[in-house]
Amino acid sequence: MTSLVCPFLPSLPSGTGRKTALLSPGRQACSHQSLTAAVSGTAARLVAAGLKPGDVVALSMPNGPEMAILFLAVATVATAAPLNPAYREAELDFYLDDLGAKLLLCPKSGFETAKSVARARGVPVAEVELGSGGACDALIVDLPAAAPEGIVEIAGNRSSDIALLLHTSGTTARPKLVGLTRGNIEASIRNVAGTLHLGQDDVGLSILPLFHIHGLVATLCAPLHAGGAVVCTEGFDAMKFFRWLGDFSPTWYSAVPSMHQAILQRAKRNPEIVAKARLRFVRSSSAALAPATLEGLETTFGCPVVEAYGMTEAAHQITSNRLDHRLPGSVGEMTGARVRVVNAAWNDVPTGTVGAIVIQGDNVHGGYLNAPSANEASFRDGWFDTGDQGFLDDLRRLTITGRTKEIINRGGEKIAPLELDAVLARDERIAEAIAFAIPHRSLGEDVAVAIVPAEGRTLHAEDVRSVLGNVLAPHKVPRTVVFLDVIPKGPTGKIQRLKLAELLGLTGEASALKASGSVDADPAKRSR
Ligand code: AMP
Repeated sequence: MTSLVCPFLPSLPSGTGRKTALLSPGRQACSHQSLTAAVSGTAARLVAAGLKPGDVVALSMPNGPEMAILFLAVATVATAAPLNPAYREAELDFYLDDLGAKLLLCPKSGFETAKSVARARGVPVAEVELGSGGACDALIVDLPAAAPEGIVEIAGNRSSDIALLLHTSGTTARPKLVGLTRGNIEASIRNVAGTLHLGQDDVGLSILPLFHIHGLVATLCAPLHAGGAVVCTEGFDAMKFFRWLGDFSPTWYSAVPSMHQAILQRAKRNPEIVAKARLRFVRSSSAALAPATLEGLETTFGCPVVEAYGMTEAAHQITSNRLDHRLPGSVGEMTGARVRVVNAAWNDVPTGTVGAIVIQGDNVHGGYLNAPSANEASFRDGWFDTGDQGFLDDLRRLTITGRTKEIINRGGEKIAPLELDAVLARDERIAEAIAFAIPHRSLGEDVAVAIVPAEGRTLHAEDVRSVLGNVLAPHKVPRTVVFLDVIPKGPTGKIQRLKLAELLGLTGEASALKASGSVDADPAKRSR
């Protein structure tokens, strides 16, 4: 049998394999050698179960070292499709079907909804024992099929094989499928590691969800590939963050702006840990970082804060500020991918002029898997339209100013408003419903819905939230529900989703509603 080498792990010079690779709170550290063995062993089991390049393996797993190892193993030999563990039944049903999953991996205990949805769909489930000893303790993956006789060779993914499948919230109610090849991911890993000068002495604190491209590429694969270590946590928790900072002395971490804000707020209560921190830099991506937050972090931790621009379709990073050259408010320079800013005819606009941001590069996907019309609209001459708008300055640094796509960026988590519209349209008490983004102090944007009740029907914000909450993950359920007699339209009679907050006077505090209607905002804070 040929040995299975995970392309996202380093080939370390002999002797250095003993260096730490994975750490996790409450677990023993494991070396690069052990990690490679755990990933290769798990990949071999997947192959023995009959999986091959192109077969989709869905993962519904909590953050932690098991998820990290399983992702690396699946992406070596087949196609990994990580799912948000918060998905409700209807969402899981859609995703498992849309992915054409051949197998679902999830923990032995809990995750009952995912298991029952998979079984009802005829998707085999392999249960994973979550360990408690070493971070790389052999995973007992209860794979359903016996090893086919006579496997002599394990091919693993080639550069053009799809190693990672992620859904992206798009301009349609149906999320689009982004297929990232092994080559796309390897290019993105190189771009991130090169920008940040990641090396063997680095220890990254991984706090982002491992079902999102930012967490997978920037906080897991890039640092490991550089030969460094990753602290695989259970996910972001502002209180535990400082404990981890003290316990593991990371040299860097990457997060979304709302997490940075929560960290800043708690920093004053942890002066000793902050004083001892040995962060080389802090990174931010997935949503706009306010210059005040950047400055606050730099002052607190005494290290550079680099903001990067990334997206699923680019296997994460597109541009980034440099450690020694930063411009607050800008997303920095090209870091591997090429960027142009163009007008409606896809011609370059002059420096300083706002236009559509289009990209090209080895890390950029080759087209959505299930959306020919979206591909037609978003690709031209090998360039991909990101749906974001911005301008380049004299030094070719990019600033994002807005977007043409109708996603809501709730603190880095993307929500397709049409997904909410579609659920609400099915309720007979509602004549018209439209979800839209409103500004939010810490999240950047939050989701809101405007509702025109059906004639003679009354309903309350709580009813609307429960209709949505029954089928959608909690982060998609809006706090702000606005009841209106009529939804304001633009001059052409079309609903202007991107301008709705402004038209309804919801660009400041929700209480400043000036429209003829009522706003019902739930003050109870939900955690991300
Ligand atoms: P995702 O596919 O979830 O990574 O989301 C990608 C989108 O997030 C981009 O198309 C942008 O709209 C937004 N985004 C990512 N990074 C930034 C940033 N640094 N500043 C502003 N928006 C960003």
